[in-house]
Amino acid sequence: MIVAGVTEELRARFGKARRVAALTGAGISAESGVPTFRGGGGAAIWEWRGRPVSELSSAELLASDPVTVWEWFDHRRGLLRDLRPNAGHAALAGWEARFPDFLLATQNIDGLHAAAGSRKVVELHGSIRHGRCLRCARRVVLPDSLPELPPRCACASPLRPDVVLFGEMLPEGAFERAEAAASACELFFVVGTSALVYPAALLPRLARRAGACVIEVNPEETELTPVVDATILGRAGDVLPAFLTPGV
Ligand SMILES: [Zn+2]
Repeated sequence: MIVAGVTEELRARFGKARRVAALTGAGISAESGVPTFRGGGGAAIWEWRGRPVSELSSAELLASDPVTVWEWFDHRRGLLRDLRPNAGHAALAGWEARFPDFLLATQNIDGLHAAAGSRKVVELHGSIRHGRCLRCARRVVLPDSLPELPPRCACASPLRPDVVLFGEMLPEGAFERAEAAASACELFFVVGTSALVYPAALLPRLARRAGACVIEVNPEETELTPVVDATILGRAGDVLPAFLTPGV
């Protein structure tokens, strides 16, 4: 079913649900102005300083030239500095208190869900706002400007960006938490992602198989559209608040 807005039926399901999970991707961040790599609104970045993004964000380059990788992520943190969460992020943050059982999994590394007040968030691909020590594994909040590259941990070892690079596995336990929520929920939202990146792409399919009603929110149809229960065509910032505000 493809609809242009939240139907009464979907709103009623939402009103009765107790176990809800959501997966978000680049589209919801693009609504806040975050540049994306895989479409979804916003300006797509493919190259920086003449190097492809796939190389800059790779485990291989981190091993051979960590300073360039840090410069790239520092540049991206700079782009985020003045951006704010939007009404879609705010709606998801509010849902945490509404449902007894709620989990948000995101493919985004920009930290905008946390900035909107979400606490039950699994950042599947890590966070650009954090570094991680290569020796003691401590996770460190990065200051706005870094005194040296690579920055160092309190233990004096270099930090790496706390994000999942091309060629790396997801952080331990992250996907498992999202998987458990997807398998146990009644309602599963897929927001602003075409869910082409694995393993995140498995989550809506897993939720569907476990019997959840899967609702996609995206401005355009995606490869998921044929496999979900409902696709609401629209922006996250317009559609998600409308679940609680009839008539919008
Ligand atoms: Zn350390």
